Amino acid sequence: MARYVLVSDSTLSYEYRNFPLLDFLPSAPSKAIPELIYRFLRGSPPPAHPSGEAVFAPYGLRKLEASLLRKFQRNEVVVAHEDYLDRFITDDTEIIGVTTMDPLGIGPTTMSYYALFGGEMMAWVRKDWDSLIEKINALRSGKKAKLVVGGPGVWEFTVLRDEIEKYNFDYIVQGEIDDIADMLFEQISEDSIDSSMFQRGYVTYDSSFRRIQKNDDLFIARGITGSSYPRIEDIPEIAGPANKGIVEVMRGCGIGCDFCEVTLRPLRYNSLDRITSEVRTNARAGQTNAWLHSDEIFGYKHGNRFVPNEEALAELFSSVTSIKGVKTANPTHGRISIPAGYPEMMEKLSGILKAGPSNWIGIQTGVETGSDRLAMKHMPNKTMPLRIGPDGSWQEIVWQGVYVETMNYWRPAFTVQVGQEGETAEDEWDTIAMINRLSNSYAGGRPFEFTVTPLVNVPLGRIKSRSLNRNMLTANQLAVYYASYRHLAKMAVRDGYRESRGNFMARLGTGSIISGGGFMMLKYVESVARKNGVDIEKVKKWGVERNVEFSTLASISNA
Ligand code: SF4
Repeated sequence: MARYVLVSDSTLSYEYRNFPLLDFLPSAPSKAIPELIYRFLRGSPPPAHPSGEAVFAPYGLRKLEASLLRKFQRNEVVVAHEDYLDRFITDDTEIIGVTTMDPLGIGPTTMSYYALFGGEMMAWVRKDWDSLIEKINALRSGKKAKLVVGGPGVWEFTVLRDEIEKYNFDYIVQGEIDDIADMLFEQISEDSIDSSMFQRGYVTYDSSFRRIQKNDDLFIARGITGSSYPRIEDIPEIAGPANKGIVEVMRGCGIGCDFCEVTLRPLRYNSLDRITSEVRTNARAGQTNAWLHSDEIFGYKHGNRFVPNEEALAELFSSVTSIKGVKTANPTHGRISIPAGYPEMMEKLSGILKAGPSNWIGIQTGVETGSDRLAMKHMPNKTMPLRIGPDGSWQEIVWQGVYVETMNYWRPAFTVQVGQEGETAEDEWDTIAMINRLSNSYAGGRPFEFTVTPLVNVPLGRIKSRSLNRNMLTANQLAVYYASYRHLAKMAVRDGYRESRGNFMARLGTGSIISGGGFMMLKYVESVARKNGVDIEKVKKWGVERNVEFSTLASISNA
């Protein structure tokens, strides 16, 4: 039987009816979304092989599997489907490895819902996490199997350290270990962790975003000696298909926004051979979409001043879309200044991706603010190679970017932040103006296509003390929420049915819930905002009653 049983947090395994942005559904508070609706919107359970192994797994879990396969035999490592864990956890199991993204429900999107709904911090992500760990602990009871967790959500265990004893973890692994996971697993199995390779403790950040090292025997990270991150050539290729056909194009970012941890990691590009080979692995298993992951796709092999590398991007996209079985492809994240400044390149890339009315290219974009002052303070390079001032205001750059994207059938999913360091009421109303102007704009006779999700910056101290309630947001921040949800409700009505997938009943159910849910959410946000003194009529008109017209940017200085 397998020595190492790998499984993912179940919220990472569902398809969420392949509806844009519905992957964030588990971030919703469990008291706000009834279980019946939550289970319906998640869609069918992920597929399993007859053996009980998962057909698809989160990309990070596939990397862990690949790392273990460098040292161990195929029959010693298994990626299990959550529903069939009982077939794999036996007396021979040495380690159960679990990967997670938002186990305790304190990730940015989840927090943004708590800010609205208040009350107990119990999102669906946490409910599902608790039941998975309960199941694993029951199955390993009386056996030697150790429980080891890792993945991008591990920081949450460092924040709510006092709440995790009940999970009975043996170890929590922090950071990138794709190149040495095989050694770590072997050492954990043998109770002989080499302190020159691995240190006990975790890294956290202070209020000025400085790294702090804390000693804690429950946590394991790479040793202080040697590289803090794997070299790209030491990261193994996935050996099984990943959820949603995802493959990693690059790690790190380099843009340098002062609130973002990604930028602290070194920038590393996967080779085209590696990327296409992993896409083939996914395509052979039936994934028809290739989801090209990076934190900033337009930074792929970029030039000076973050000038996009058109040739490299075109080669990347065309190599991927020409793979047998791949029908569509889209990048996960990208900044808005590139569509704004490079419309011809976007047209070319859209042609390669076969973007069109029935193939909108979804991309997540952190716009963060409508304020020039805050953009220059917190993310001065995000506009590069454009510059706020010579190339227009931040709002003009964003407007131009969405104009070009809508013309070319790209649909950005924006996030805006409230509660940024140094933020004033004026900044918040700038963000409202930006959202309203975008929401009222057209390109080629089509309304601008974008979503906008407000996120709240919650100080870690406040999360730790659990002093979260509806007073978390000021009236002006609630006004930003209202403007965002007003646009989201408009999008839900426009796209709720059009973007639903499946048979007639599934489309009808999903479309109705999305459209109706968007309206109900708007009404809820409106009532919270009104109670807190927000002038709703003022929000609706802000930024559009002066009928400010943005047109194409005059030029790209020095680009
Ligand atoms: S561009 Fe995005 S990923 Fe890069 S540092 Fe800024 S916020 Fe982080």
